Amino acid sequence: MIADETIIRREMVVICRRLYDKDIVPANGGNVSVRLESGEVLVSPTGHALADATPEWFVKVDLDGNKLAGDLDSSCETPTHTFIYRKRPDVRGIIHGHPPFTTGLALAGERFGPPSHPEAFVYIGDVAWIDYATPAGLAGRLAECVERHDAFLLGNHGALTLGSSLKQAHFCIESLEMHARTLTLAKIWGGAKPLPQEAVEQLEELRRELRSR
Ligand SMILES: [Zn+2]
Repeated sequence: MIADETIIRREMVVICRRLYDKDIVPANGGNVSVRLESGEVLVSPTGHALADATPEWFVKVDLDGNKLAGDLDSSCETPTHTFIYRKRPDVRGIIHGHPPFTTGLALAGERFGPPSHPEAFVYIGDVAWIDYATPAGLAGRLAECVERHDAFLLGNHGALTLGSSLKQAHFCIESLEMHARTLTLAKIWGGAKPLPQEAVEQLEELRRELRSR
């Protein structure tokens, strides 16, 4: 194992535990992956809680999802992860989870609506809606829009976020959940009001800058 893979595996453990502690991946739900410099992918195993992650635990697969190394079997969502890596050369980290407020929107068929919170928009961008699909069918549903979005609301299921690193995907899914919580609270006060168009244009520029770093 090369040195940077060791560091990446340790970082994956830290992020898995944070995701679990924040209720983003309750029980044994959710999965994470990282694309290594070599092009190979480390993905969490199926049937295990991310809270129990260890550096050795992640399964190494190629971009077609074939297992290369690891004692456990990779997540059943591995085909979705490898599909995204094939389509998006800029993506190095992916997280799928069931954070409760975001998943509430997904179950109700609600959308995030127009940009209403500046930081949320900078970290998340436009959230794409994806109609319900089984793990085997999710890649097909993502095909149309995966190149234009970094965050996806999965109908009747949960959330999926992408980033130039696992850390960025982590910021994105935490921001998504916080945004879903605050939108839910804003409903008490009559609902979130959209940001002015001029502000959205400035924030889009800031988002482009941040993503290119
Ligand atoms: Zn799921």
